[in-house]
Amino acid sequence: MSRKELDIPCTMKERKLFELVADAAAEQRVPCYVVGGFVRDKLINRNTKDIDIVCIGDGIQLAEAVAKRLDPVPQVNFFKNFGTAQIKWFDVELEFVGARKESYSRNSRNPVVEPGTLEDDQNRRDFTINAMAVSLNEADYGTLIDPFNGVGDLEAKNIQTPLDPNTTFSDDPLRMMRAIRFASQLGYTIAPHTFAAIKENAQRIKIISQERITDELNKIMLSPVPSVGLDLLYKAGILKIIFPQMVDLVGVEMVEGKGHKDNFYHTLQVIDNISRNTRDLWLRWSALLHDIGKPATKRFEEGHGWTFHGHDAVGGKMVPKIFAKLKLPQDAKMRLVRKLVELHLRPISLTKENITDSAIRRLLFDAGDDIEALMMLCEADITSKNKAKVRRHLENFELVRQRLKDVEEKDRIRNWQPPITGEMIMEVFNLPPGRIVGDLKNAIREAILDGVITNNYDDAYKFMLEKAAELNLTPVK
Ligand code: ATP
Repeated sequence: MSRKELDIPCTMKERKLFELVADAAAEQRVPCYVVGGFVRDKLINRNTKDIDIVCIGDGIQLAEAVAKRLDPVPQVNFFKNFGTAQIKWFDVELEFVGARKESYSRNSRNPVVEPGTLEDDQNRRDFTINAMAVSLNEADYGTLIDPFNGVGDLEAKNIQTPLDPNTTFSDDPLRMMRAIRFASQLGYTIAPHTFAAIKENAQRIKIISQERITDELNKIMLSPVPSVGLDLLYKAGILKIIFPQMVDLVGVEMVEGKGHKDNFYHTLQVIDNISRNTRDLWLRWSALLHDIGKPATKRFEEGHGWTFHGHDAVGGKMVPKIFAKLKLPQDAKMRLVRKLVELHLRPISLTKENITDSAIRRLLFDAGDDIEALMMLCEADITSKNKAKVRRHLENFELVRQRLKDVEEKDRIRNWQPPITGEMIMEVFNLPPGRIVGDLKNAIREAILDGVITNNYDDAYKFMLEKAAELNLTPVK
C-alpha cells in the first residue's frame, strides 16, 4: 500500500520502519502513533535515535508483532508492570507503550495508570514541544497531531506545559529539572508562568531520587552552554536544595569598600569557557568545582583585602563528599576531578618570572597525564572582562606550556617512577611497611624533582643510605 509522506522529515530507513509498524498495527487493529522526543527532534533537525510508539491497546503485543516483521528478528524486552516493550534494531531503539491516563498522589511521582486515549496520553506529557504525535493509521497516515501548538513553541523556542504548570510540576517534580535541562540543551526560554510554577514547586524536588536528579544535572552539564541550566536551577530555588555548596558561592561581600568577585557567576563562566573546548563531562565537573573551597576559606585581611588561602586543597577534599552525595562515581573520574581542583592554582604560580626547572618538574610529576586537562581548566579560569589582561594571561600560559614541554622532553617526568621503590627500602634495611619507608621514599623523590641528585639508581641509592644514616638505620645487605 502506498502511503502519504510523513509530516516530519525522516530518513528512508525510518520511513520503511514506520510503514512496517503501521502494517503490524493495522493487522492487530490497534491505532498507533509516533510520539514525544522523536517528533520534536525531527522538527528541529536534531539527531535522534529513540523512537517512542504509543498505541491504543497493548504495547507489548504490538512490539512482538513488529519484531516478527523485522530482519533479523530482534529480541523484545518488555516490562509487564509498566506495559512497555523495547526493541533494539541496529542503531534504532523503538519503545512501545499503550496510551495511558495518569492520576498522581501527593507523595510519589509514580502515578496510578489506566488505559486511555491518544488525547489522554498527550495531556500527560510534560511540555507542548514533547506532546506532538504523528499518526501511523490508514485514515490519516503521516499527519502531525499537535493539540497544544508544540510547533509554535518550537518556532518561538518556548518551553511550557500543556496543562496547568502547577499541577504538572507538583504531580511529577522531575519535570522541573527536565524543563531546565531542555532550556539548556536547546537554548530555549521557559515561559514565565511555567517558570513561576517551577519556583513555587521547587521544594517538591525532594521526592525525586538522587539518581534521576544527577542524571538531569549531568545532561545540563553536557549542554552547549551549561550556565543557562545552572543559573535557572539557581533562580528557581532548586540548586539550593540539590547542591547547596554551589549556592554558597553566590554573592559579593564588601568590607572597607573592598569586594571580591561573585564566585558563583565566575564559576558558571569557567564552565562555559571549558565547554567550548571539551565535551568531557569530568573536565566540566572540574570547572564546576574548582573554587568550591572558597566560601570555607574566605577571610578579609586588614590592609590587604579578600583572600581564599588554601581553597584549592579544601576544595579538593570536598570533591569525594560531593560526588558521594550526588551519587556520582567514586572511581578514577572522581580522582581526576579532585586532582584538577587541587592543582588548579599551580600553573598560575608558574607564570611568574625566574621559575626553576624543579617547579616545572614537580607539576609534571603531580599532574602526570592530566597536565593538558589542567592547562585547559586554568585557561578557562581566566574570566576577566579586560581583553588585554586576558591576552596577557593566555600568553603567560603559552610560555608555561612551552616550559612544560621542554622539561618533559629533557627529563621524562610525566609517568615517571623514582628508581628506588618502597619494597627495595624495606629489603635493604629489613623494615616492616610503615612511616619510615614512606619518608625515605619521599625524600628520594623530592631530591630528584628538586635536582639535588640526578635521576638514576646509583645516585638515588647513595642518597638513600645518607638519609637512612641520619635516622640511625644501617643496611642489612
Ligand atoms: P531525551 O531523550 O533527551 O531525554 P526525550 O524528550 O526524548 O529527551 P524521554 O525521557 O526519552 O525524553 O521521554 C520521551 C517522551 O516521554 C518525552 O518527549 C515526553 O513526551 C514524555 N516524558 C518523559 N518524561 C516525562 C515526564 N517526567 N513527564 C511527562 N512526560 C514525560
